[in-house]
Amino acid sequence: MIFTNPAGAPELACDACGCRWFDRMRGTCYECGAEVSAESQAEFRRALQAFAARAPASTIAKPPPRER
Ligand SMILES: [Zn+2]
Repeated sequence: MIFTNPAGAPELACDACGCRWFDRMRGTCYECGAEVSAESQAEFRRALQAFAARAPASTIAKPPPRER
């Protein structure tokens, strides 16, 4: 599933447990190990692009610390 953070940026969250901690190298949830489907990842990329299209670049350059 995809959340929107207070800054208006999309955040990918686990379909199984709802947490937002992902191992982006493996495409799995840190919390429960569920895989992020290619469909969800594609949806998230589209959401990011839509956000990038309407947000100032400075917002994009500073992702939330928890995503690192
Ligand atoms: Zn999870």
